[in-house]
Amino acid sequence: MAGQVFDIVIVGGGPAGLSAALTGRIRNKTVAIFEHMEFSPKLQKAHLVDNYPGLPQVTGKGLMQQMVAHCQAHEPTIIKEKVLNIFPGEVFTLLTPGGTYEARSVILATGVVSTLLFDGEKDFLGRGVSYCATCDGMFYKDKNVAVISYTTEGEHEAAYLGELCRKVYYLPQYKKQAAPMRDNVQVLTAKPCAIRGDSQVEKLVTDEAEVKVDGVFIIRQSDPVENVLAGLELESEVIKIKRNMSTNIPGVFAAGDCTGKPWQIAKAVGEGLVAVLSAIEYLETKPKPVEK
Ligand SMILES: Cc1cc2nc3c(=O)[nH]c(=O)nc-3n(C[C@H](O)[C@H](O)[C@H](O)COP(=O)(O)OP(=O)(O)OC[C@H]3O[C@@H](n4cnc5c(N)ncnc54)[C@H](O)[C@@H]3O)c2cc1C
Repeated sequence: MAGQVFDIVIVGGGPAGLSAALTGRIRNKTVAIFEHMEFSPKLQKAHLVDNYPGLPQVTGKGLMQQMVAHCQAHEPTIIKEKVLNIFPGEVFTLLTPGGTYEARSVILATGVVSTLLFDGEKDFLGRGVSYCATCDGMFYKDKNVAVISYTTEGEHEAAYLGELCRKVYYLPQYKKQAAPMRDNVQVLTAKPCAIRGDSQVEKLVTDEAEVKVDGVFIIRQSDPVENVLAGLELESEVIKIKRNMSTNIPGVFAAGDCTGKPWQIAKAVGEGLVAVLSAIEYLETKPKPVEK
């Protein structure tokens, strides 16, 4: 894969991303799909889906299994990593905790950020607020940090930060009980409310107390997409798209819940298809770069 420039990379392996990947491969493009969790953990929780044509009375998990298997049969490159940043250029560069990847076009299919952002989160982004321990943990060596996590993935992040930091406060926002942690990782059941500081983060305010910290790591299924790709235009908190699913950034398309309501599978799948056909049309206007 080193040196490979994919024709299309898709960020997110839910119904929208899988639909885009499937047609991208059928159209003989090189396609990589990034999915850092299970494929759409959200949909996998649905006990019954009864409005997806052709597959009545299916469970969310069953539907996803069929979509993943169908997509895999066409052999896209599946990369089980989280895309942290995308940098436009002659080709797009995508940064993950494990490496960098290149692509000629990008489809964002990241779903919605299902929780409201915390008061102060945007203000302190890059000044104490981070979405990735592997990337930013070293900045907090011997300091105190908090990890707010909506997924069990946060337990690994907290464990890693526990090796580096003086003290880690772990605030799980999911129902499952957190696994036992190192001595310097304290699990808090308080509800996080706000992030405060002056030029840098100084504390996390919860409904029970104020916790003095130098950094706050927030682990969600989907991060605010405008933080992943700077300059991406939004409209009422969702990605602004044209009818062909193009965004304001040439070569970047979007599909599914991240473009707005209705939050429904059939809409996500349809938009994934339109996005990939538009990406292919876009690629046809560009010379193919020479691979390194
Ligand atoms: C309980 C429940 C029941 C539902 N029931 C129905 C139903 O009956 N019928 C219906 O039509 N709809 C239903 N929905 C809605 C449906 O699940 C969504 O509309 C659909 O999943 C949207 O697909 P998507 O691909 O846009 O996003 P998602 O399914 O949210 O997929 C996005 C994927 O992107 C991944 N991702 C995000 N950011 C990154 C990143 N930076 N790097 C790598 N991967 C990333 C996530 O891990 C996720 O897997 C239900 C939803 C829920 C929660």
